[in-house]
Amino acid sequence: MDNQEKSRYVKKNQDLFELINKIKLWPARSGILHGIKTIENRGNSMIITTHCGEHFVVWDSKTSRSARWLRHHWFNHACPKCHVPEWKLEKYTQTVFTDDRR
Ligand SMILES: [Zn+2]
Repeated sequence: MDNQEKSRYVKKNQDLFELINKIKLWPARSGILHGIKTIENRGNSMIITTHCGEHFVVWDSKTSRSARWLRHHWFNHACPKCHVPEWKLEKYTQTVFTDDRR
């Protein structure tokens, strides 16, 4: 288990807002992974503003497409306009989403 040290463990059952707030990356439906500049919490939904100036309105749901994509690290490529740093992508891909429903 020594090489697990670098991994970050995130409980996957927490709210999408918490999840996104930690990871600061947004997998858009197009397969592009954006860097998040700000997240505005609106209760049931949130407004995500990316570094490249895009806005996404997202429902805070643990079972949404985006939550699933985040947990599985699904994306095609990082957004070139967001300039997501390499270390951030690496940290993200090393993040392990633990299942605490046991
Ligand atoms: Zn972007």
